[in-house]
Amino acid sequence: MGLWAYVWTVIAAGAGLAAWVVLTEDLRSIAGPYPAAFWTFAVLLTLLELRPVKWLRRQDGGEVTASWAYACALLLLSPSNVAILCMGAASLLGDLTQRKPLSRALFNASQVSLSLGCGALALTVLPYRETLISGEILTVGYVAAMIVAGAAIFLSNSVLTCLVLALYEQTPVWSTLRRTIGVNASTDGMLLAIAPIFVAIAQRSLVLVPLLLVTSYAVYNSARLALSRQHEALHDALTGLPNRRLFDDQAASALSDARRRGRRAAVILMDLDGFKGINDRLGHHIGDRVLQVLGKRLSESVRGSDVVARLGGDEFAILLRNVGDDAAVHAAANSLRQLVEQPCHIESFSVTVGGSFGIALYPDHGSEPQALTQHADVAMYTAKHAGGGVVTYRNHTRDRLGHGRLSLLSELRRGIDHHELILNYQPKVTLADRKVVGAEALLRWEHPTLGLIPPGDFIQLAEHTDLAGPITDYVLHKALAQCAQWHRQGLELSVAVNLSAGNLHDLRFPKAVAQALEEVGLDPAWLELEITENTVMADPTRSMTVLSELRDLGVTLAIDDFGTGYSSLANLRDLPVHVIKIDRSFVGTMATNTGDATIVRSILELAHNLGMRTVAEGVENAETWRMLADLGCHVVQGYFIGRPMAAGDLVERLTVMQQADGFEFVARRTTAA
Ligand code: C2E
Ligand code: MG
Ligand code: MG
Repeated sequence: MGLWAYVWTVIAAGAGLAAWVVLTEDLRSIAGPYPAAFWTFAVLLTLLELRPVKWLRRQDGGEVTASWAYACALLLLSPSNVAILCMGAASLLGDLTQRKPLSRALFNASQVSLSLGCGALALTVLPYRETLISGEILTVGYVAAMIVAGAAIFLSNSVLTCLVLALYEQTPVWSTLRRTIGVNASTDGMLLAIAPIFVAIAQRSLVLVPLLLVTSYAVYNSARLALSRQHEALHDALTGLPNRRLFDDQAASALSDARRRGRRAAVILMDLDGFKGINDRLGHHIGDRVLQVLGKRLSESVRGSDVVARLGGDEFAILLRNVGDDAAVHAAANSLRQLVEQPCHIESFSVTVGGSFGIALYPDHGSEPQALTQHADVAMYTAKHAGGGVVTYRNHTRDRLGHGRLSLLSELRRGIDHHELILNYQPKVTLADRKVVGAEALLRWEHPTLGLIPPGDFIQLAEHTDLAGPITDYVLHKALAQCAQWHRQGLELSVAVNLSAGNLHDLRFPKAVAQALEEVGLDPAWLELEITENTVMADPTRSMTVLSELRDLGVTLAIDDFGTGYSSLANLRDLPVHVIKIDRSFVGTMATNTGDATIVRSILELAHNLGMRTVAEGVENAETWRMLADLGCHVVQGYFIGRPMAAGDLVERLTVMQQADGFEFVARRTTAA
């Protein structure tokens, strides 16, 4: 049955009950034998309906009122019809004063009336109804009857609420019931349980009513505390969104539901891009507001059955039930991304952030919630690596990293200590005279079980931790030692080392470089340090200081991957660098794509005009080589010349080629092509 069909069925049943009650019973004697107690309970019931305890489940979720105790007391003390009408009317009045939608108010009123009706039915079936009302001394039998009635009210109310929740969230009824019954028992159940005490007191003397107020306040308060504690345990305090624990629960139930019905589900993980910059530059309170605004935006944009959670920091998770094909989920994630990228208006200005989204689908990418989340994480990380966007998990090489970023990071620490990180060297050759002038040191991780892991899969990760410094340190020392050895062998090669953003922000870094050079006794001119535009832009002032000191030291500085970053030409002019390395995304396709050829030509001209040397990376064929030679590029690097290789192999090939024709191996490669 659909949600609305169910809602209107309950409303119709409630209305039917109300009509039946009004038509068949004599309403003149509404108060029953205890008018004072009746009116006291009726008034308290109404007051409490007007001030329910809010229980923030989903954005406008459930709530608890202490009114059940009085409603049940009314049922035990006065004619059933009156109790049912009172409860229904109080609920309706309460909901309408709180401006809830009419359908919801009607549904709630019907639901409580029907539940109370079930209690009344239990009392009528058991032969104690009249004795209770007539106020005879309570016996074990009466008490048992009251307990049965309370249980009937509790169960029918729980089932009616659960059904609507399950239909709204599209979750299985049974798991919803299991999830909510505990909370209901600690609130409604407790309130129902004290109703007989109210009855006993009221039958004896109304003087004790103030004590009832204290008791019901205590119960009301403990219900409130229980609910807020439960809410806190399962929600993020800043955004009010479900936390990781609740998300995992929901994902587990969504998957078991999808399994049973043969449907698909998706887990999307999102990490904000550039959020750290907002925190650092604008302050944490602005960062917090951004998270709140985005959390609200996301949760308002998904269906009622979907879940948006904050997993911590700037990471959010979205669970989509009952989804279509890959393309549909990709499109959904894309619209979430657009939503995230809209400016957040905070205080008097607006802040913009981006997001990297990773998608994993059930059953395609995993059948357990944990596997799906991990795979979404891998996909999200791939998106992050590519500078943002939406990526769906693919069962490709990154599979190996599926066992989680965190465990990989902790293993990386061990890997550094155990010398599992190795360096390959890729030759760089001058175009004019085909001479190998140097090599770029490229890091790989020889993982004992996962095999060879490329740098892209762990370096960006490490840059978010304190491991970036030790890694550069390690590479620098190893590369310099290697370079010194080449020189001892008579090979005059320079060595290039890639830097991380953290190095450029570390004012002690130039000193560390000087020391490392001194240790191996190399002239600084043989060391080339590669930076990217973006690492400089993260903190231009500090980077500038560090770069100037490095240049003064006599080290060669190169901008790597040029053309893919965000620096302006003005920045380029001011940067103390000697070399521009044109990114392989332009060089690799320049032979077939005139647009890319134009970009390469423009970069070369720009570099020449600024008096910088040029390196083209990603040269994969003779055609590209020739084009670059015509354009006056200085140095090339790429698979056409040589792949990154072990230091020993590089020397071997160099020696062989020099013996062969006086040219380096590059020459033979060129003629062969
Ligand atoms: P990069 O510095 O731009 O390095 C060049 C990358 O292009 C290398 O990938 C290299 O194998 C690849 N490459 C070279 N020639 C060709 C070609 O002709 N065609 C194609 N398709 N690719 C080519 P690798 O070794 O996977 O390194 C990727 C990136 O990882 C590097 O890009 C660099 O940014 C980073 N990296 C590598 N080693 C280190 C390191 O020790 N420290 C830091 N901070 N980053 C490193
Ligand atoms: Mg490089
Ligand atoms: Mg590069």
